[in-house]
Amino acid sequence: MTSPQRSSYEVVIIGGGVIGLFTAHFLSQHMDPGKILVVDRGFATGGASGRNGGGVRQQWETRATIRLARESVEFYRRFGRDFGYNPWFRQGGYLFLAFTEEEVITLRRMETGVRSEGLPIRYLEPSSVLDVVPDLDVRSVRGATYLASDGVILPFPVVWGLLASLKERGVEVLYRTAVRAIDSDGHQVRAISTEGGRISTPKVVNAAGGWSREINLMAGVPTITHPTLHEILATEPLTPFLDPMVVTLSRGTYFSQTMRGEVVGGLTMDHSRSTRTGLYSSREFLVEMSKELNRLVPRLAEARILRAWSGYYDDSPDGLPLLGEDPKLGGFFHANGFGGHGFMLAPSATRRVAQMVLGQKTDLDPAWISPARFSKPGEARTVEGLSLG
Ligand SMILES: Cc1cc2nc3c(=O)[nH]c(=O)nc-3n(C[C@H](O)[C@H](O)[C@H](O)COP(=O)(O)OP(=O)(O)OC[C@H]3O[C@@H](n4cnc5c(N)ncnc54)[C@H](O)[C@@H]3O)c2cc1C
Repeated sequence: MTSPQRSSYEVVIIGGGVIGLFTAHFLSQHMDPGKILVVDRGFATGGASGRNGGGVRQQWETRATIRLARESVEFYRRFGRDFGYNPWFRQGGYLFLAFTEEEVITLRRMETGVRSEGLPIRYLEPSSVLDVVPDLDVRSVRGATYLASDGVILPFPVVWGLLASLKERGVEVLYRTAVRAIDSDGHQVRAISTEGGRISTPKVVNAAGGWSREINLMAGVPTITHPTLHEILATEPLTPFLDPMVVTLSRGTYFSQTMRGEVVGGLTMDHSRSTRTGLYSSREFLVEMSKELNRLVPRLAEARILRAWSGYYDDSPDGLPLLGEDPKLGGFFHANGFGGHGFMLAPSATRRVAQMVLGQKTDLDPAWISPARFSKPGEARTVEGLSLG
């Protein structure tokens, strides 16, 4: 546990993962960096930001998500130059596979939306899928989409680069210090209580990922998001054979090959949907994922699994994140609900969160993104159907 340098800050960000750090980064470009505090009870990369598959894709159903993702891709392309840390962003594409006619319709619809945003997505018949991944078993594949500018990033250098840049700018980032309570007068945030003491602040950002629900409870606001455990594994290094990230619509299976040759991937297990019971790797997942990899790429039958781990998605009911001020508590901002896609949306989404914290207008439609969208029961909401993988 560490104590902060000051007793009051203009903005306190709870969570020092990629979302909290990027939010601090954009805020520090427009306000005194010394008045921003990032506080985290764990360590850098201890949360989902150090446990994910590194996938960065622009293939989405909702227009605003496509735009955010496209901006993130541009940001990550520049990251090495701008931050001095190479995140090994490799644009080997994303290949979505459909196994039923219904899934083909979903992909066709998505293809139309993505193309109308100016991205050169391609719809592939099963035979053409082999041009992209020659080792796939395409006998049951009905169709696919492929976008070459999607890719995979190494999460750790992104977090390290952000931390180094924030330190240089004078933003205080405090790890191993848990937030215990959020104080308000019922309408407006006043302070937070941490293990290191009480800190006055008029603005708090909930960037606690899979723990955002707990932070909402502390603030006394409705709990919209909920954590789900997701497992992931890496095989031993294999001779490079796979350029894109491959995703199946049916089970949300995803896998890619790192530059070290490991195949890294996961799928959605039934127990992902259950309440949190601690981080673990299950035998069932190893069996299911091995079967799935063998089915899709028969040559992987001989590959050995090197390691497995898990982390929390922070899921929202409509598959879209919650960005902006809480409708019930002034000064309490959300930057959560990213599900399994917070890394790819982080640079663009948090730039808007920073604008909202600074009281500026953003180009995002509040009906799509605002936490207030859940205060209107019965009202039709946009749903992101491709919030999978
Ligand atoms: C297995 C897996 C695979 C994934 N694959 C991808 C992918 O391919 N592409 C992609 O874009 N995304 C992926 N994701 C999702 C992505 O990792 C997350 O959306 C993203 O990292 C969320 O970042 P965050 O900063 O919000 O959360 P985190 O990195 O989890 O950070 C939240 C922080 O809050 C801190 N905290 C919690 N409670 C408190 C408290 N009381 N006081 C102080 N601090 C607190 C925690 O210690 C933690 O460090 C994946 C996630 C998992 C688990």
